[in-house]
Amino acid sequence: MLTLWRHCRIATCDEQSRVFERGAIVTRGAAIEWVGDEADLPAGLRTEHVIELAGRWLTPGLVDCHTHLVFAGQRAAEFARRTAGTSYAEIAREGGGILGTVRATRAASEEGLVEQSRPRLQSLLAEGVTTVEIKSGYGLEFDTEARMLRAARRLEATNPVTVSTSLLAAHALPPEFAGRADDYIGTICEDWLPRLAGLRIDAVDAYCEDIAFSAAQCDRLFTVARALGLNVRLHAEQLSNVGGSQVAARHGALSCDHLEYATDADARALARAGTVAVMLPVAFYMLAERQLPPIEALRRHGVPLAVASDCNPGSAPGASLLLAMNMARRLFGLTSAEVLLGVTRHAARALAVHERRGSLAAGRAADFAAWSIDSLDELGYWCGFNPCSLVAKNGSIVLERDV
Ligand SMILES: [Zn+2]
Repeated sequence: MLTLWRHCRIATCDEQSRVFERGAIVTRGAAIEWVGDEADLPAGLRTEHVIELAGRWLTPGLVDCHTHLVFAGQRAAEFARRTAGTSYAEIAREGGGILGTVRATRAASEEGLVEQSRPRLQSLLAEGVTTVEIKSGYGLEFDTEARMLRAARRLEATNPVTVSTSLLAAHALPPEFAGRADDYIGTICEDWLPRLAGLRIDAVDAYCEDIAFSAAQCDRLFTVARALGLNVRLHAEQLSNVGGSQVAARHGALSCDHLEYATDADARALARAGTVAVMLPVAFYMLAERQLPPIEALRRHGVPLAVASDCNPGSAPGASLLLAMNMARRLFGLTSAEVLLGVTRHAARALAVHERRGSLAAGRAADFAAWSIDSLDELGYWCGFNPCSLVAKNGSIVLERDV
């Protein structure tokens, strides 16, 4: 059955970044059959169902390409210490920070993780997000890492969303391996990765930082992951530059994320590797960082820029991609066009789903969001307000809200 979605303005975010001021979309089941100016609607298309969009803007369903949204507990007490002047790195060295969430997550059941994480996912879905990446990384032991990944798949099975999972076992050094980071990386490489491959992991991630893992350790992990046919992505250059971007580029990483301390040479390496740079301005804001990512160098070298919520209990305790878009514009100086591509086509590329999602074109998934806005400039303008009024996932309306 063909459905006509009419009377809308459309930003396709596809390779040509087409805009149709008097647009229409025809969907067949879960896929887009046609998109263009309504006046050019092919005469032979017999649509059986018509949905009136009353002049609203239509974009691809948003893609949040970096989240840690499956976790237990919260870290409000740590936030209070940080606002009083203790640094994120100091708290991590004392055994707090990520390890605090590890203790809570290890104690939670799979059902408990799903229940605690669902409201965060639903907050994103209400903002037009139809694809979300979810990392493990609060288990740091085999069973809990696997439980987090299963919880992510259960969230996908019970919500109108496509989930991409990343194994982030190399997020922090678990207490059981204190002083033995190389042994821990060896355990992930030789024992966990081969066993977890059956859980449909979409990528392997790591945290390359002096409070986490070295460039050499990330290199070893990525060598094994790539040999198993897995994609890789990396948290790099967030608090200092320890060479993560170069490792990511060498392994053809899908994305390199944070990048506040990346250099011009790092940007060049990422461009050559076709790696997406993922901007995480909520973490920058929550940690009161001062070092801005090298946006001009990333632009100059042609690195695709994505923007993500980074939803996590420590450095980005929110579940709002729209807020991240606003912060990417206000704090990092991205344009509204960059931010829109950053949560659509480029974010989809960071998850290797760009041939199917993150843009509107014939043959692609019928995932889109309608916005009660006058201008595309309003995406990333509103700060703490959500103008999304309709979401379609795989051709079906899954959310409608009065705006
Ligand atoms: Zn992260």
